[in-house]
Amino acid sequence: MSTETLPSQNQAMLEEVGDLFAESGFGLPEVFGVAPGRVNVIGEHIDYNGGLVLPAAIDRWVNVAIRRRDDHLVRLVSAQAPGEVVEFSVNEDLAPEGKSWGNYVKGVITGLKAAGFEVPGFEAAVISTVPVGGGLSSSAALEAVFGKVILTLIGAEMDSLELAKLCQKAEHDFAGVPCGLMDQAAVILCEEGKLLMLDCVDDSFQHAPFDDPDWGLLIINSCVSHELSDGGYAVRRDGCHAAARILGVGTLREIEPANVEEVLENAKLTEDMRRYVRHAVTEIARTQETVEALGLRDYYRAGKLLNASHVSLRDDYRVSCPELDFISELAQSQEGVAGCRMTGGGFGGSAIALVRRDSVGSLTSLIEQRYRAEFGIDPKIFETRPMGGTRAWKA
Ligand code: ADP
Ligand code: MG
Repeated sequence: MSTETLPSQNQAMLEEVGDLFAESGFGLPEVFGVAPGRVNVIGEHIDYNGGLVLPAAIDRWVNVAIRRRDDHLVRLVSAQAPGEVVEFSVNEDLAPEGKSWGNYVKGVITGLKAAGFEVPGFEAAVISTVPVGGGLSSSAALEAVFGKVILTLIGAEMDSLELAKLCQKAEHDFAGVPCGLMDQAAVILCEEGKLLMLDCVDDSFQHAPFDDPDWGLLIINSCVSHELSDGGYAVRRDGCHAAARILGVGTLREIEPANVEEVLENAKLTEDMRRYVRHAVTEIARTQETVEALGLRDYYRAGKLLNASHVSLRDDYRVSCPELDFISELAQSQEGVAGCRMTGGGFGGSAIALVRRDSVGSLTSLIEQRYRAEFGIDPKIFETRPMGGTRAWKA
C-alpha cells in the first residue's frame, strides 16, 4: 500500500517516527504502521451484555516504524515514554512487568506465537497523537498497530477479526483489563466515513455510513480520571452477569425493552442490579435506534438518543462524574449540537457530541472557557470524522 491514502497529519508524523527510529540508533525502518484511536458513538457498557455498539475510528493515530533484528531481542522506544528503552527477548515466555507499556507489545507477540507465527527480534519506535488514558483507546491502538507491523515484517497475514481477538487477549492477559471486543475491533475494522456496528453476541459487524459533510463528531476530553476503589468496571460487569443468571437469560440483550420494568420487579435482583439491567436493556435499544436515525440522516433524533444515553449512564449505571455531566449538559444546550454524552468506561475520560460542523469553533471556545472556570482544568477538544482502521506497509 502507499501512504497516499493516509490522512495528511500522518505524512508528517511518519517522518517524525522515522527520525525517532534513526536517533535511537535503529537505522532505517523496514515497515511502517498506523492505528487510530476510537470513540464509541453509543452503546456504552453493553459489549459484555450481548449488545450492539457503534464506535468510529478517530483522527488521532499511533504511528510505528519497525525493523527486524538478526537476534531475538526486542527494543522499543516511544516519544510518549521519553528516555526509556523497553528491552526483552522474544525467545522467553513473556510475562507482564509492572505497568510498562512494553506489556502490550509482549501480549501481542505472545498471541502471534500462540497462533503459530515465528516472531523475530525487532526494533521499533512509536509516536502517537492518541491521548493516553483519555478513554480513546490508545492501548488498543498500540496493540493493533504492533500486530499489523509484525505481521507485515514477516510477510504474513491474519484475518482482521482474529487479530482483534488476539489484541483483546493481550489486553486481558498483559494489562489486566477484562475488556470486551469493541476497542480492538474498532481500531482494526473501521472504515473511512463509516461507523462500525458490532454485534457482541456473535462478533458479526456491519459498516453504517456517517459521511454527511455538514455533520461531525466533537471529542471533548475532560482530562480527569477518577480511580474507583471498588473496581467500578468489574463490579458492574459482574453485576450484569449475575442479574442475567437470576433472570434466566444468556445475556441482557434477550430482555425486551418494552418489558424491562416488569422484569425488574423480580425480587431476587438487588437495587444495583435493577439499575444496571435498566441501563443495559435501554442502551441496546437506543443503539439500534441511533443506527436507524443516522441512516435517515435524522441527526437530531440520534442526538436525543445520545442525551438519553448520558442520563442512563449517570443515573442508572452511575459511571459519570461531575466533569462529564457539566460538559454534556453545556454542549446539549447549544445551537448546532444534536446531542452529547459521556463516552468510554466513565469516571472521567471524554464526552462525544454530534455537531453541525459550522458550530465547532464557537462550541469549542465556549466549553474551554466554561470548563476552565468551573474546574480549573483545560479540556482537550477536537473534531473528527470516522477514519479508516489500522494498516501497515513496507517502507
Ligand atoms: P486508554 O486506552 O483509554 O488510552 P489505557 O490505560 O487502557 O488508556 O492505556 C494507556 C496505556 O497504554 C499507557 O499507560 C501506556 O502504557 C500505553 N500507551 C498508549 N499509548 C502509548 C504510547 N504512545 N507510548 C507508550 N505507551 C503507550
Ligand atoms: Mg485502553
